Amino acid sequence: MSTQEPVTTRTAFDLLVTGGKTLDGGARSWRNVDVGITEGRVVAVSGSLAGAYAKRTIDASGALVLPGLVDFHTHVYWGATPLGIDPDALAAAAGVTTWVDAGSAGAGNVEGLVKHVIARSAVKVKLFVNVSYIGLLPVGHTALRFGELFDHRLADARACLDEIERFRDHVVGVKVRIGHDSTGPNGMDSLRVARSVADASDLPLMAHVSTPPPLLSDVLPYLRAGDIVTHCYTPGLMGILDRRQQLLPEVREARERGVLFDVGHGAGSFTFAVAEAALAQGFPPDVISSDLHAYNVDGPVFDLTTTMMKFLALGMSLEDVLDRVTAVPSRILGEEPSAVREGGRADLVVARLDPEPVVLGDVSGEIRTHRERFHVIHTIAQGAVLEPNSHGPQGKRKPGLPTLDPRLTRPKAPNR
Ligand SMILES: [Zn+2]
Repeated sequence: MSTQEPVTTRTAFDLLVTGGKTLDGGARSWRNVDVGITEGRVVAVSGSLAGAYAKRTIDASGALVLPGLVDFHTHVYWGATPLGIDPDALAAAAGVTTWVDAGSAGAGNVEGLVKHVIARSAVKVKLFVNVSYIGLLPVGHTALRFGELFDHRLADARACLDEIERFRDHVVGVKVRIGHDSTGPNGMDSLRVARSVADASDLPLMAHVSTPPPLLSDVLPYLRAGDIVTHCYTPGLMGILDRRQQLLPEVREARERGVLFDVGHGAGSFTFAVAEAALAQGFPPDVISSDLHAYNVDGPVFDLTTTMMKFLALGMSLEDVLDRVTAVPSRILGEEPSAVREGGRADLVVARLDPEPVVLGDVSGEIRTHRERFHVIHTIAQGAVLEPNSHGPQGKRKPGLPTLDPRLTRPKAPNR
């Protein structure tokens, strides 16, 4: 159906979302829309579909109707890796219809991520395959203290390439975690193997940066246009600022040649101080992502919308924040354009900006408040309205970590 065909009382949709406001990406302006959905696709977007029949109607008056959010850095290999969380259990409240797993699985266990998680999830899941054969299997609350690339034999390029070819439909890139905790002394060797796999498979390379060795300035020369630095606002010594809190010139040069910078908040990789200094020096992130996993889902990360509100609190506009959780990551993933448009996959979020203060925390325990809450009312994945499900608590706590600030605002249940 197109807008040329008149909508009549006999026009039938599976789902009709009425009265909401959506963002016209290109024009960056808001307009009122009714959205008709049938068989998992958006089939009509119009100023008014009043009078049309639908099996279910959602009144979105006063709310925003947006493309489903993309969380570009998460860990969803639940039941198989300590970090894993079940995306379906969290998606309804988070508004996230596309979850990108950032390297939980390597060649030795990617088949399980595809067959046990992706195949069963109501939401879309894409993955970066870890250059380590075992993925993030040893990472989490274990006494092992064994990084996934401490033994360089685990950087098996051939096995990684074979599995990329097998699961090409699901793989969006190659992941390597560079730093003392993950690669031990093998940082540069691991990076070179990851580079070769990304080149041979013609996929982007996502490099996690944390604690030296090596230094960020050693890593950046290996990254090209379309590659991604994740944890870009880490307070760690592989961060983007020098000791005087000035942006490293090689970081700016990397952006100029097309290297992308992703937030990847995580349990240790985002402070207001670093983000604020970067924003003040004209260095916003390309992508805003949560790095949601079992050890931060109970705070301070909670979910992607909470991460988004941290950037609103730092003064970024709603339009700029939304761009970094919809259009930009969709483009990097090579997905269809992220917009509420006819013919598009019906992945949508209905959300409100409620005028109530939210208390937000970073990984150092610093607190900021923001004057309004981004509250997800409905998450729609392929035309289905997701219900909050109760797979039980997903969070785990690492012993020895400070208790969370009780003032932090937790996500609210949807549908209220
Ligand atoms: Zn991660």
